[in-house]
Amino acid sequence: MATTPRDYYHILGVPRTASPDDIKKAFRRLARQYHPDLHAGAKKAEMEKKFKELNEAQEVLTDPDKRKKYDQYGADWEQAQAFEKARQQSGSQGFGGPWGYEGDSTGQGGGGSGSEQFSDFFENLFGGRGRSGAGRNSAGMSGEDIETEVQLGLREVLTGVTKRVNLREPRTCSTCQGSGTVRGRPCATCQGTGVMTEYKTIEVRIPAGVQDGTRVRVAGKGQPGINGGKRGDLYLHVVISSDPIFRRQGSDLHVTLPVYPWEAMLGADVTAPTLAEPVKVKVPPGSKADGKLRLKGKGLPSASGGHGDLFLTLHIVLPIGISDDERILYERLSKQRHPDPRTELLYSAQRR
Ligand SMILES: [Zn+2]
Repeated sequence: MATTPRDYYHILGVPRTASPDDIKKAFRRLARQYHPDLHAGAKKAEMEKKFKELNEAQEVLTDPDKRKKYDQYGADWEQAQAFEKARQQSGSQGFGGPWGYEGDSTGQGGGGSGSEQFSDFFENLFGGRGRSGAGRNSAGMSGEDIETEVQLGLREVLTGVTKRVNLREPRTCSTCQGSGTVRGRPCATCQGTGVMTEYKTIEVRIPAGVQDGTRVRVAGKGQPGINGGKRGDLYLHVVISSDPIFRRQGSDLHVTLPVYPWEAMLGADVTAPTLAEPVKVKVPPGSKADGKLRLKGKGLPSASGGHGDLFLTLHIVLPIGISDDERILYERLSKQRHPDPRTELLYSAQRR
């Protein structure tokens, strides 16, 4: 039977001889470390699991009665207890219980040593008592690193920016002064952990030209250390937000630039947006719809040190509403001889 017994002593990092006070202390120290609020991403789920285990271990080991049973029967003490009850009710006639145990020839008669045997039975069935915890060395443990995401707009990437980052940090619960109990009952403010979550904001300078997906390390801004250990580090995971105007492709940017048909046909000097100031651009005569103009170096800083380019994609638009004069001009245009613009489309469609 391959069960892995949850060893509550091991979870709390205390020896089996630990005093109730030692157990409480160990619990508070670890609760502070594992508190799911203090972790992000994949770590959070792991810590939630650990935190749950920790609470379970604490609940059993701080209750003298439960602890005694746990010491006797191991992790499955609850099942053992239920079975024991059933056995007592059925008049302690050996172990013909639900598991079909056949009994044992050694010293069955007369009671007395019954409970000792019973515990041996459970040790066999459930893989025995857990190893006694060696006692975790708690001196000077460094604080956890924190990882958090920071979203940057394109202009912030171009110029660099100081970002406010919100962090959560554990502090001693002020209701119970960190003891986890108020008048003998678990503290309601901190759910008996002795720890509360404090929110704080720090400012972090992010240099210009940071790349999407980069991790920026901010030394010493992680979780506080334990017992005088040094603070962990803060890692900022940089995400460049998408922009409604400038589409990013690596360090290049793309913008759609509306032009009138006559601007595309005759050429024009127009004003185009960039991430910084707008610039004058020459639309060359005879420009095609969807043609691209390249503004060299007007993109984002690139990883190699230079700058990407800004591409303007020409989008031919018509004025909204036309005057009578314009209508006359369109009519004159329509009378000019032009090849049918759909010839190639129709030909290709036929050939499919
Ligand atoms: Zn409290």
